[in-house]
Formats: sequence, C-alpha cells, structure tokens
Amino acid sequence: MRFMQATGLTMSLILLPIQMVTAAAISCPEAKILFQHEVRREDRGALCSGAASALKFLQSLGLTAKRPIKVAVEEHPLATKGHPIYGSYDRTDDIARIMSLSAIRRSLARPTIYEQPLDEAHYLGIIAHEIAHAVVQQNTRLEEISNAAQEYLAHATQMAVLPTIKRQQVIDAAGVGAWEVNDVISEVYMAFAPERFATKCYLHLTGLTDPKPFVQFLLTHKWRYLTVGGAEDSRVAIEPRS
Ligand SMILES: [Zn+2]
Repeated sequence: MRFMQATGLTMSLILLPIQMVTAAAISCPEAKILFQHEVRREDRGALCSGAASALKFLQSLGLTAKRPIKVAVEEHPLATKGHPIYGSYDRTDDIARIMSLSAIRRSLARPTIYEQPLDEAHYLGIIAHEIAHAVVQQNTRLEEISNAAQEYLAHATQMAVLPTIKRQQVIDAAGVGAWEVNDVISEVYMAFAPERFATKCYLHLTGLTDPKPFVQFLLTHKWRYLTVGGAEDSRVAIEPRS
C-alpha cells in the first residue's frame, strides 16, 4: 500500500466528462494487466507504462507475472484504517486498486509522494508499487509473506522505475544509506519515514552482487521483522526475528 503524504483530504463532487474509450477487462499489450472495469485512455496509458516498467525491473530479480494482474482504476479517494492512500493491493481478491491521477488531483491540492511533488513520473512509480505487490504474491508459495518483505520489494520497485534524476532527488532528501548489519526492516519505520524506507530498500537491493537469493529469501519470509544480519556477507545474509 502507498500512504499519501498529505493531510486534509477533500472530496470533489465535480463530475468530469469521462471518455470511456476502452472496454472492460482489456489488457495492456506490453503487460499482463486485466482491468476490472472501463478505463479512460489516459489512465490506461499510464497504467500500462507503469506496469511494463515494474515487470521489467521485477524480471531482473527473477520475478515474473504468472497470470494476469487484476487492476482497478479508482475515481474516488482510497483509504485504509481511515488513512488516505493512493493505491492498495489486496491478496484476498488479488486486485491492485489505484486512484487515477486526476482523482488524486481532485482529492488533494498539492499531492506529494516521498516528500516530493506527485507528478506523472512519480505516479508511474505508485502504479509500479502496486503491480509489484501483485507479482510478489504470485511468486510465493506462502499464503502471505511478511508485510515488511512485501513493502521492501514494492518500494524498491517504485524507486527503480523513477527517472534517474527523480530517484536521486528522493535519495538526497532522505539522507540515508542502504540497510546495514543489525538494522531492523520494519513496517513501523516505513510508516514514520516512507521516503527513507524506500531509499534504504532500493540502495540495499541494488547494492547486492546478486539480488536473486535475497529476493527468494523474502518470498519465504513470514516473520514480522527482518533483521539484517551477516557475519560473512552483510549484504546478503538476513535473518528472521520473531
Ligand atoms: Zn505497499
């Protein structure tokens, strides 16, 4: 899930002339996306592009879409536990729900992500984040892996699909390096500082000589916390902490 970094959620009652140019359940030609209902042309373009970028990065980690990814583009504000969000993935119905960019802009005067203004490039990152959740779920044999592991991979993917200059802006503003030995990768840290969490995950993952063994470890991880260990290889070895 991707938390909004802004408060004061307001709902607009303006009805836009929506051009539904696609039929329901149309797939992107470049990605295995299955839309759950009609999608405007501009939204379809963003969704297909963000998904394709995510799938390309995930493939480099050994993760592929085993079946079509169900996506619902939402025109209303989303929330979890009362907290506004831009998107979510629910493993129980296997649907990634993502607010359209126009819906986000109707909801917030100045939307932000990772402490940066939310522009088209960052919106593709949000799409990639939710697509990553769906693909990760398709690649684990567990009913559910830990949220920390899920979010690690989703945020790393979100960062990876950003243009280099945008990604560097996030990294510079976050002012942190990769996860280090004895660091605890947790949802709590993510909730307090999502831009630092994302930066740490991206730098850690892309700093690995071969990320695939670590990714496979995450896919079998169901403990709540991950502690970066590593008597022998601090970058790869990671141990569960119950
Ligand atoms: Zn997430």
